[in-house]
Amino acid sequence: MISFCRANRSLVSRSNRSVQRCASVAASISLPGSDVQSDDELLDYARQYGSTVFHATCTCKMGPDAMAVVDDRLCVHGLEGLRVIDASVMPTVTSTNTNAPTIMIAEKGATMILDEARQKLAA
Ligand SMILES: Cc1cc2nc3c(=O)[nH]c(=O)nc-3n(C[C@H](O)[C@H](O)[C@H](O)COP(=O)(O)OP(=O)(O)OC[C@H]3O[C@@H](n4cnc5c(N)ncnc54)[C@H](O)[C@@H]3O)c2cc1C
Repeated sequence: MISFCRANRSLVSRSNRSVQRCASVAASISLPGSDVQSDDELLDYARQYGSTVFHATCTCKMGPDAMAVVDDRLCVHGLEGLRVIDASVMPTVTSTNTNAPTIMIAEKGATMILDEARQKLAA
C-alpha cells in the first residue's frame, strides 16, 4: 500500500504535460496531501481512507460444469422453476463496470421468462 502511494505520486510527477496540468489543478484537493510523507503516515492514510470497489459477482455462475449453478437459460441446475437473474451468474467478472452487463442479463432473463410463458399459453 505504501509502495502504491509512492508509485502513484512518482507516476504523476513524471507524466506528460497534460497529466501534470490536471495534477496541478487537482493538487489542492488531491489525497493524500503533501503533509502525508512517511511510511507510517501513508499507512495510516491508507487504513483510514482505503476501500474496495465493490463489484460482487460470480457466486452462482452460469455454465455446464460441476461448479456452475445455472444453465444458459439462467435456470438452477437440478431444480424446476427457479432462475437466478443478476450479477451472480457471470462466469467471470467483466473487465469493466458491472451495472450495464447486469442490466443486460436482466433484460435477457426477462425475455426468456416471457418467451416461455407465451409458449406455455400457446401449448
Ligand atoms: C458502492 C458500489 C458502487 C458501485 N458503482 C458502480 C458503478 O459506478 N458502475 C457500475 O457499472 N457498477 C457499479 N457497482 C456495481 C453494481 O451496482 C452491481 O454490479 C449491480 O447493482 C449488481 O446488480 P444485482 O442485481 O446483481 O445486485 P443488487 O443491485 O445488489 O440487487 C440485489 C437486490 O436484491 C435485494 N435483496 C437482497 N436480499 C433480498 C431478500 N432476501 N429478499 C428480497 N430482496 C432482497 C436487495 O435489496 C437489492 O435490491 C457498484 C456497486 C457498489 C456496491
